[in-house]
Amino acid sequence: MNEIQYQVDLMSAMNEKLKSDQKMMEMIIDTSTSAFLYIDMSTHEVRMLGRWEDYFDFQVRKYNDLQMITYSFGEDYREDFRNCATLERRGEERNVVTVQTADRRKWVECEVNVVYGPDKRPIDKVIRFKDVTLLRDQHEELKYMAFNDSMTGLYNRNYFIRCMSDYLSKAEKENREVAVMFVDIDDFKSINDGMGLAIGDEIVMSFGHYLSDFSTDNCIVSHFNGDKYCLGIYDPCGPHSVDRIYRTIRERTRQPFVTSDGREIFIRVTAGVAMYPDASSSVLELINYAEIVSNRAKEDGKDSIQYFDSEVLTEFLYNINIENKLRTAVHDMDFQMYYQPQFEASTGNLRGMEALIRWKDPDEGMISPSLFIPLAEKNGTIVHIGQWVIEDTISTYMKWKKTYDRAFILSINISAIQYKREDFVEGLIGVIEKYGMDPGELELEITETALIDNYRDICSKLSALRDYGIRISMDDFGTGYSSLSYLKSLPIDTLKIDKTFVDTVLMDDNTNIIMESIMSMVQRLGLETVAEGVETEEQLEYLKGIRCDNIQGYLLGRPQTVEDIEALLRK
Ligand code: C2E
Ligand code: CA
Ligand code: CA
Repeated sequence: MNEIQYQVDLMSAMNEKLKSDQKMMEMIIDTSTSAFLYIDMSTHEVRMLGRWEDYFDFQVRKYNDLQMITYSFGEDYREDFRNCATLERRGEERNVVTVQTADRRKWVECEVNVVYGPDKRPIDKVIRFKDVTLLRDQHEELKYMAFNDSMTGLYNRNYFIRCMSDYLSKAEKENREVAVMFVDIDDFKSINDGMGLAIGDEIVMSFGHYLSDFSTDNCIVSHFNGDKYCLGIYDPCGPHSVDRIYRTIRERTRQPFVTSDGREIFIRVTAGVAMYPDASSSVLELINYAEIVSNRAKEDGKDSIQYFDSEVLTEFLYNINIENKLRTAVHDMDFQMYYQPQFEASTGNLRGMEALIRWKDPDEGMISPSLFIPLAEKNGTIVHIGQWVIEDTISTYMKWKKTYDRAFILSINISAIQYKREDFVEGLIGVIEKYGMDPGELELEITETALIDNYRDICSKLSALRDYGIRISMDDFGTGYSSLSYLKSLPIDTLKIDKTFVDTVLMDDNTNIIMESIMSMVQRLGLETVAEGVETEEQLEYLKGIRCDNIQGYLLGRPQTVEDIEALLRK
């Protein structure tokens, strides 16, 4: 009897406990934002718990109804869910998968747990559905921001590098090539300056949008920054060859891009290409090289495509080396001025001297100004160098003038960067006054290309210098954009006819005709002429014949050191 009482008490105690456990369970389930599905694996009985109606608009009664759940998810996710939900087939205890609903409104994390009996047979299965849309959106947003450029929606540099690494490892296995094509809009600065940043941004976006058309599994299109884009092309051949792609892009740029306010804007693009494995097997190096060649293509004339080769690399490394040395040379002012005499064609008298800079490096020897002046212009050290040139040449000239009692014209080459400086005019006049030079004895040489960027500003400075009495000379005439009519509007005194003209004039009738029309125009405008690079007697005779005023060139005198010039002046 006691025994029975004991059993009854025990059962009711257990019942109480079960009740309170169940209450606790229900509470947990009710306050949760998840939905649960409990499945008794032996009877295949199914129970829905929690916020079922937040997830599904149908009820699940039988085990087979699980199909309905599968179909409430997007097509791409059904297989994953099915696999996850049948984990007991693989003897697993827990599995999680995140899926999107068929209407794409929600992301649902499905967690499945199975409890096994001592005989390893599954007893219970619980599937929990949890809404992770918000989290997922945040994650996607982060991923998007980390991989996409917010302006164009194209992949950014980081993502490009990642994809390229994948391409390269694949290419290594499959023995294929990969091209990195750096694309850059020409003269983008003038679009920004001329039409405003908003239009510039629109162009960056529209062009980026256009480029995205090229994107496929084998072509990644990315936007690095500003007007710079980069394409990665796996196994470039046939219609996906780099040349084809570039030609297509180039053709597109023959049509305008239309801005939101209806303006039609034409752009030109330059591309630089580096190929795996020829150029390099490092992604960063490939990108770097592609950019280098695109910059070089710009120097050689824009609107074109150029490929990386070992010559470019050698030149690039050499330039980097020179640029580094240049900084030290500027610090120590390791430069020296040479002077090349100019003679009057008719009398043979000394007309003047052109000051030409020289840099002697202990390792490299003499480095040509044609090489280091552009580098100095690029890194800004030209301002320093130019100031030194002005002071050094003027002080040398004044010393000569006193010592030898000879006056002539001192010609100095001035770079566009120097003219652009706010204090250029004042600074120069300051030096002239410091040494008491007659401004009429100083001639500044400027190239046509220097005028292009900042025509108005530079012209007004040239006028101010001319008003002060300094002579202005147009250097390298005939190599640039020169139209004869625009010469009229320039504040210049002298025209230097470029060596290429002098070289071809005797061989080519057309050059001959052009030269003669230049001379007659120039004489009408009252400009003085200096022919450069005169190397032969025939050239000299010809130039005399067309009444060119002055002659400069190896025939009559090479650029020489101060000592050599002093010997000449003593004569
Ligand atoms: P540039 O102003 O056109 O100078 C004339 C160049 O032609 C000089 O080269 C000169 O040595 C060379 N030359 C003169 N006569 C002959 C000839 O008969 N035959 C040949 N083959 N060449 C001749 P250089 O001295 O190497 O200077 C190259 C360029 O570097 C100059 O071209 C000029 O643009 C720039 N440069 C030189 N010195 C300075 C400077 O002090 N400041 C700036 N900003 N640029 C400079
Ligand atoms: Ca010159
Ligand atoms: Ca010249």
